[in-house]
Amino acid sequence: ENQASTNGTTTTKLNSPSLSSNIVLNLDHGDPTVYEAYWKRLEEKCTVVIKGSELMSYISDVEKPCWFMEQDLENAIKKLHRLTGNAVVDDRYVVVGTGSTQLYQSLLYAITTTSFAGDGDGNGDGDNNPLHHDQLPVPVVCAAPYYSQYAEEADYLRSGLYKWGGDAYAFDKDGPYIEVVTSPNNPDGTTREAVVISDQGKIIYDMAYYWPQYTPITRPANHDIMYFTFSKSTGHAGSRIGYVTNEAIARKMTKFIELSSIGVSKDSQIRAAKIMKVICDDYQDFKSHNNNNNNNTHFFEFSRKLMENRWKRLREVVGRSNVFSLPKYSQEYCLFNGECTESYPAFAWLKVKEEGVEDCEKLLKEYKILGRGGKRFGSDSSYTRVSILSREDVFQQFLDRLESIKAN
Ligand code: PMP
Repeated sequence: ENQASTNGTTTTKLNSPSLSSNIVLNLDHGDPTVYEAYWKRLEEKCTVVIKGSELMSYISDVEKPCWFMEQDLENAIKKLHRLTGNAVVDDRYVVVGTGSTQLYQSLLYAITTTSFAGDGDGNGDGDNNPLHHDQLPVPVVCAAPYYSQYAEEADYLRSGLYKWGGDAYAFDKDGPYIEVVTSPNNPDGTTREAVVISDQGKIIYDMAYYWPQYTPITRPANHDIMYFTFSKSTGHAGSRIGYVTNEAIARKMTKFIELSSIGVSKDSQIRAAKIMKVICDDYQDFKSHNNNNNNNTHFFEFSRKLMENRWKRLREVVGRSNVFSLPKYSQEYCLFNGECTESYPAFAWLKVKEEGVEDCEKLLKEYKILGRGGKRFGSDSSYTRVSILSREDVFQQFLDRLESIKAN
């Protein structure tokens, strides 16, 4: 019935009329189904029709470093960033990837074969690795708690170029390294900067959650290497679109994507472009007609209200709890909203505060709530990351269960 099976666990489908209290709530992944309610209202406007003879070629534009990227997508990406003011995009190269997951891997490859000390043979193609063999593999570090996939993706192919180096706070080696800075951070929602003090590293900024519904936009991000994902900005994770802005290693990243998938689905690119454009046009129409937006129909207003509402309800439940606690976030002036706002992260970084209970993930599992335990993020088992991006019925059921967990 209203059940779909993923990895042997049971989750709910859209519009399940009533959610059984027996059902397993899979809040392990940050699956952004929370936004379905919004996009349902704009279904017609966002529909993309691709004719049988269209988008057949591998190639989009051979003149571009990222030759498989559709121009419409690049335009829409830049338009969306200009609207939100969250990143500098003028005159920047864009490389599109199959989700930012592919970009992370392409960045590790591109940086370790090109960036340190420049290109080995100086011809700009990065073919000659400038690193000496005793400097390889280059350690990849991130301050704990860090997004668990960084560690898993860095090591799963046992690359000779890079390897996971753990918590950036504990990193004290000499030589080249890569630091990943996730801001706002997954899992704990904090705003971050690099922590390793050295001039021998390269920094990758993962900006997946630097959007107005999750955090105040305090300045346009202008990092040398930064990436974003369509999965978290609009919630269309299924399209698998991410993008990096950087010129120096654009060709090398493109090479990696060429070798792993000969490009990125054009169907997805066109859909992503369309949806970003619908968001931007909606704001444009609003400005030109001087409408008021009391009913929060614009995407970033709607999504921020939604996240704010979820965090309010979650904090009420956790505030009454003698078992759990949550991090606090300070208010900052958001340039996009024009007012002081708080952070409403995509995940709750829950901590058990009850004495004698050490394993938060295990405790939640007894109540059929699946989260991801703190150890996976380089932290300890008193923490668990739980997704706040589920559908409403799942979220409400999560709150009800959390409320029912009492200290003995
Ligand atoms: N970076 C961060 C910080 C994330 O939370 C996620 C998704 N959970 C990703 C990258 C990967 O996203 P995607 O591959 O869908 O773009």
